[in-house]
Parts: sequence; structure tokens; C-alpha cells
Amino acid sequence: MTTQFKLNDDEKRELIETRRDLHMHPETAFEEERTAGIVIERLKSLGLSPVTGIAKTGVTALLEGEEPGPCVLIRADMDALPIFEESEEEYKSVVDGNMHACGHDGHTSVALSAARQLLKIKRPKRGSIKFLFQPAEEVGDGAKAMIEEGVLENPKVDAAFGLHLWNYMPTGVVGVTPGPVMAAADLFTVDIFGEGCHGAQPHMGRDPVLAAAHVITSVQQIASRIVNPLTPVVVTVSQIHGGDAYNVIPDSVTIAGTIRTFDDEVWEGIPGLFQEIVERTAHAFDCTVEIDYKRATRPVENDPEMTALVREIAVELVGEDNIVEEQTTGAEDFAEFLHHVPGCFFFVGSANHEEGKDHPHHSPRFDFDEGSLPLAVEMLAEVAHRYLEKYGSKTASRA
Ligand SMILES: [Zn+2]
Ligand SMILES: [Zn+2]
Repeated sequence: MTTQFKLNDDEKRELIETRRDLHMHPETAFEEERTAGIVIERLKSLGLSPVTGIAKTGVTALLEGEEPGPCVLIRADMDALPIFEESEEEYKSVVDGNMHACGHDGHTSVALSAARQLLKIKRPKRGSIKFLFQPAEEVGDGAKAMIEEGVLENPKVDAAFGLHLWNYMPTGVVGVTPGPVMAAADLFTVDIFGEGCHGAQPHMGRDPVLAAAHVITSVQQIASRIVNPLTPVVVTVSQIHGGDAYNVIPDSVTIAGTIRTFDDEVWEGIPGLFQEIVERTAHAFDCTVEIDYKRATRPVENDPEMTALVREIAVELVGEDNIVEEQTTGAEDFAEFLHHVPGCFFFVGSANHEEGKDHPHHSPRFDFDEGSLPLAVEMLAEVAHRYLEKYGSKTASRA
């Protein structure tokens, strides 16, 4: 199976060199200066005129076709994570404490390579392709910040596509799923206040530790008793901080964690529910609470028609047997683009078990199979190209 955008050996080599260079120099959220510099330089060398400094380090570049038509957005994220890399590879991070542990180094190199293939092999006839390189995906803020600065306008974006290299599937497998594909991520911190006293005389105070224990248990009702069990919800309390002596009941305890769901309606209602359960439970122990509840990202909702387009291309490139309907409670701020325009976020398998490149994302030992990169490039270039082929003429006839 092949595509017109197939990479030759030189192009594959360059793709891997770019990825390794980015991998060695990881930069975390909103600090992607060097990475953006490389992106800008490469886009300029292709003859494009990048717009820079969007939401600090974000970059876009427009590839215009011969005639006006719709605009399709191709998005890559550029940020790394604050993790110490454990690797013996020569392209290991040279920045202590920073690491490309999610594969965004791959995404950036893939989008640059897709831009080059599209320019070299087939420029769009009608419409335009907007390449977008975003900062700060890992903190859930980059996409929103770029949208606020107007990246979906001028020209107006009609559809958006993006991918994630995915170590939960082997190289050669593509994950394409219509509808909700990644979960919303909410983050909470709850301070529970009581009144400290001697550990031997609990009746002299109000115990926030006991209250915290019950709050932690009670919030599980959201997943186990309140939301329909056919609708997945994850409630995780991942932090408990409080107290520092054997015999002292502290004044306060802090708990924190995350809530995930795919369902928009459930997602809307969860903050209120959470607040009610936490307050009532704490009050039962004569404690008070302060809740800090944040929306990190909304659910990633793939448009069925756009997903069908991606699937059709995936079938041509890897065959029906190598396509899976991947869904994950992980989160992605690509959701913000899909909240405004139809599109599809898909997964390109990147695990290689023989080479030990199959550690999970965000692990200090994470690395992916670079053999997965050419397929990712070909998928992305073909998706942009075919979208304009298919919808360019529709727009033209409407005009
Ligand atoms: Zn990540
Ligand atoms: Zn990621």
C-alpha cells in the first residue's frame, strides 16, 4: 500500500535527524523557544511565511492553493515534560529534568515533514492548509491560548486534524475512532479545615484527617452511584497532605486529584456534584472546605464524517486489519480545536516490543519506534490533501 506522499530514504533520514535533535533539547510548556526557532527556520526554507510568537511560542504557516477554498488545519504540539530521562540512547535529553516523554518531538518533526511533502509533491489546487505548532499541550493551555489569539481565523479554518504517536499500539497500526476518543480532564484541590488538638484527646478538636478519609470515599459515589454505570467516569484522589506528628491532630488536610469523562453532559454537571458531596461530607465531621476546581481539557470529540475520511486513508495505507478503534481516558487539548471546528484526532502506533520501545507515555524510559514516523507523515499529508480535494469543490460550487 502506498501514497503519493511516500518518503524517500533521504527524507526519512532527515525526519529522524529532526526528531533526535528535538528529543535532545526538550522544552516545557510555553518555553519552546529553541523548538519554535527550528520550526520557523524549516518553514521558511520551504518558502512559507510563518506567523510567530502566537501564545508565546506558537507558530502557524499557510500553504495556499491556486484557487480559494476551504482551509484545513494540521496541528502538532511542541512541548516536553519536567521528567528526568532514563535512556542509554545517544539522542538522550541534554537538558537535565526535561524530557520528551510523550512523543511531541515526533509530532513536530512529522508535521514539518508533511509540510515539505505537500509542497514538493502536491500543492493544494483549491483552498489552503494551515500548519500549526502549539506550545503547552501537557498543561492543557496551549491550544486555548492560540485560539484566543485568532489562529482559527484569517483564513477561517473549516476542519482540523492531528495525531498522537501511540506506544500502546505497535508500529503499523492506526487508531481511528468516531465520537469521543479522549476524556475531559478536571483537576481539583480541596483544603479541609478542622481544629487541631492532642491526638489522645480528639474530642477537644475537630479532626480533618477523619473528614478527609470520608471525603475521599464519598466522591467515589460520582463514579459508582450517581452517573449511569454505562457512562465511564474516573475519580482519582492522588494526593493527601496533612499532619506531621504521631500525637497531634492537625488543623487542616489537603487532598487533590483528577476526574475524567467522555460525556459532555456528565462533564458539565460534575463540578457541582463534586462540590456538594465534598461540602456535605466535611460538614458531617464539623469541618469546612475550600475547593479549587479547574477544567484542564474538554473531551476530544471526533466528527464522524472527518473520521471517515481519516479511516479511508488509513485503510489504504495499512489495511483494514491494522485499524483499531482506540479510546483512552487520557486527555488532549486538541479538544479545543474540535470544539470549534469538525475534525479528527487519530493515533499512529509507535511501539516496538523487540527494541524495548514500548514504555508508556510520560514514563522516564519512554521512547518510540522511529519506524512509525514515515507513516505518520504520509497519513497527515494525505488527510490534508484529500480533505481539500473532497471539500474544495463543494465550496467552489456553493460560491
Ligand atoms: Zn503527554
Ligand atoms: Zn501528548
